[in-house]
Amino acid sequence: MIIDDCHYDIIVIGSGAGGGTLAAALSRQGKSVLLLERGGAMAIEDQNVADADLFRKDRYHPRDERWFGPDGDPIAPQTTYALGGNTKIWGAVLQRMREKDFSELAAQEGVSPAWPFDYGELAPYYTAAESLFRVHGKAGVDPTEPNRSNGFEHHPKALEPFLEPLRAGLQRQGCKPYDLPLSWSEDPIDPSGDAQLFGLDKGDASNLVIRDQAKVLRLHVNPSGHEVKGVEAEVAGEAWLFSSDVVVLAAGAINTPAILLRSSSDQHPSGLANGSDQVGRNLMNLQLTSILQLATQLSSGRYARSLGINDYYWGDKNVSFSLGHIQSAGGVLQDTLFAESPPVLSLISKLMPNFGLEQLAARSVAWWAMTEVLPEPDNKVILQNNQIHINYLHNNREAHDRLVYRWLDTIKSVEADPLTKVVRSAPIYPRGEAPISIVGFACGTCRMGDQQSSSVVDPNGKCHELDNLYIADTSVFPSCPSIGPGLTTIALALRMANTLDKAM
Ligand SMILES: Cc1cc2nc3c(=O)[nH]c(=O)nc-3n(C[C@H](O)[C@H](O)[C@H](O)COP(=O)(O)OP(=O)(O)OC[C@H]3O[C@@H](n4cnc5c(N)ncnc54)[C@H](O)[C@@H]3O)c2cc1C
Repeated sequence: MIIDDCHYDIIVIGSGAGGGTLAAALSRQGKSVLLLERGGAMAIEDQNVADADLFRKDRYHPRDERWFGPDGDPIAPQTTYALGGNTKIWGAVLQRMREKDFSELAAQEGVSPAWPFDYGELAPYYTAAESLFRVHGKAGVDPTEPNRSNGFEHHPKALEPFLEPLRAGLQRQGCKPYDLPLSWSEDPIDPSGDAQLFGLDKGDASNLVIRDQAKVLRLHVNPSGHEVKGVEAEVAGEAWLFSSDVVVLAAGAINTPAILLRSSSDQHPSGLANGSDQVGRNLMNLQLTSILQLATQLSSGRYARSLGINDYYWGDKNVSFSLGHIQSAGGVLQDTLFAESPPVLSLISKLMPNFGLEQLAARSVAWWAMTEVLPEPDNKVILQNNQIHINYLHNNREAHDRLVYRWLDTIKSVEADPLTKVVRSAPIYPRGEAPISIVGFACGTCRMGDQQSSSVVDPNGKCHELDNLYIADTSVFPSCPSIGPGLTTIALALRMANTLDKAM
């Protein structure tokens, strides 16, 4: 094994929303930081895909990686190993969790647990995160919007023209559509924000060493078992050992528990930080259904996600538990998630055999229905023969179905309104649930909490059982909000930078 001769203040593992943001923030504070990232730089043409090719290639599934699903069959996960992690292909919609999302809430099929702190604790970091990631949005329109001390620094992007009359049509049905807050760079070549652009690139280069193509295999502890002493990584086919005072795992909700489980030793026989048998458990992966509506007006088919609707976020006229969030998916040729909904595509090709993807994109509106799932100990990431297995079944399904049917009713009433001319009714609304290989919204596998017996990290992200090991990715989420986890992950990373600054 090659032993690196530098010793750092902090090693951060993974450069996505959590790790990329944290490593840069720590370097700005003057800490010496080593960032280890298993991927490399992603080519610009792969980041801003806007062509039918998106549907034809397994473009965002690492070629050599197979995980195993609940039935034991191999799956090719949609996950991005690159500088910036999954933020290189995300929709860049950055929303705050609502105040109530932080407290215990009754759901249709159980309870969504409380976080160990309230919204007020994270609010200043949300503000800083929106500023850092240049979030464009408009406050005061979404009825569920949490309290904020300020408006957005940047106005929303202009909508694709046909979406303005659609917004008005939704308003006539009593909905309150709002401009989705988007991370946006104003750079025409690389317009959508990500954790490389607004994370790593904002670091202090004199303090931040970035080693890409460095896949972390396991962590080594000192003889007492209370401190991580070395980080073992595979670099160009060779084993390397790196060292620092503090180590932060930010490899994402699947790979972070996998690294901890792989780091078992005499002192930690069931995996590092896993004395309570919580590592890998409580996996939550947002329920996502894509719904396609036909448009009468041509559009470019290439535009960002646009409108959000939270009118059913806390329920509807019949039920008082959370149903979830609706967002317009963006142009069909630009939505990496939509391209992963094979049921939608096969249905369309049967219904309209001569309808190519370009025509479909130009004449449709795609929507996403998004509903939270609840933590369950048996939904988990495990290692078998050193390979990742995902034991996972969605729960809270009836709430999600309600949301989908509620939304279908809403779009049908929009179509029935003679004043709304931009969409038209169809005999069928093709829709498809995201398959298990879509893991980009996964969270919860190393959850935070006050009690060591039921959580992996404390409210500051420090592993209960280790003095110098922290986690800064979506693994730590105690619950899974119906909106995306991106902004909360960035805010938590900025909060951790502050905590570490005071502690070191
Ligand atoms: C197609 C898509 C669209 C999305 N759209 C949105 C959206 O619009 N809004 C939103 O809020 N969220 C969205 N998400 C989710 C969002 O991208 C994730 O929640 C977020 O990136 C999670 O951040 P993270 O830091 O936990 O992990 P990641 O961003 O996944 O980063 C993990 C990093 O760790 C690296 N890594 C993994 N294993 C190792 C290892 N062994 N050694 C070294 N490095 C390692 C990875 O390469 C990666 O860089 C989307 C996700 C996808 C896939």
